[in-house]
Amino acid sequence: MVLMDCHTHTQFSVDSEADINACVERAAGLGLTAYAITDHCECDAWYPAEHYSAEEREMLESTDYKADYEASVSAVTALKEKYAGRLNLICGSELGQILFDTDAARIVNADKRIDFIIGSAHRIHGEKDFYFIDYTQLDMDGIYDLLGRYFREVYELSQTGLFDVIGHITYCLRYMKQRHGICPDISRYDDIIAETFRTLAHSGRGIEINTSGLRQGFGATFPDLKYVRMYRELGGEIITIGSDSHTFEDIGADVGKGAELAKAAGFRYLTYFKERKANFVKIEN
Ligand SMILES: [Zn+2]
Ligand SMILES: [Zn+2]
Repeated sequence: MVLMDCHTHTQFSVDSEADINACVERAAGLGLTAYAITDHCECDAWYPAEHYSAEEREMLESTDYKADYEASVSAVTALKEKYAGRLNLICGSELGQILFDTDAARIVNADKRIDFIIGSAHRIHGEKDFYFIDYTQLDMDGIYDLLGRYFREVYELSQTGLFDVIGHITYCLRYMKQRHGICPDISRYDDIIAETFRTLAHSGRGIEINTSGLRQGFGATFPDLKYVRMYRELGGEIITIGSDSHTFEDIGADVGKGAELAKAAGFRYLTYFKERKANFVKIEN
């Protein structure tokens, strides 16, 4: 079974303190086929705070991701050299909210140091990050309205092409369930989700299986087996696996289960990106 972790965070992400040198050393010790550092770069907060209106600032939990981005990419680029031959280290970025500032997203896409871009939607227009939304203020109509807008924006994201894979599709469900036990039935969005998958399949881009939900009490990957299978059946070929670790200890967490799930969904190969090109590795030899 091939093991790879293509979604991890380090000290250069606002929500992680994981020492980057220790992370890389651990990844080398785990014998991962591929290991990507994908620190956060939120396109809606690319500039210092003064750049944004008071209204916009209220939605942003921090700004100036440009500085974090530069620090992460410089450090990973140096480590790639240091670990050459010992670790397949991938210089990635988790690009959040591409739809909010496609110019910022294009700057990252043009950076030759970048091997791999995950496009993630952590918030949608007019809303705070899903992490910060107070779900107790919403009735079920409000929840479904929010989810409908999320899946619509993920579809719009798929059309931009400013990424290699879309990160943790269905992430919007995480905090509703984990904090409040709210478990909406998302099958009503299957048409737009299918359209997103078709767009990705036709444009040579993909999705990830994000295993963080397995260890954080959600009880499933983002997305789960039903949607990974749907993606496969609609022609999806590119699939990466990521733990979304924010700590040294979580690197590689449940990535074997992620590979099993990909196999159960009909995949024979996993993907990792180098120099923005897809590399396919057999799940089982
Ligand atoms: Zn994310
Ligand atoms: Zn992440």
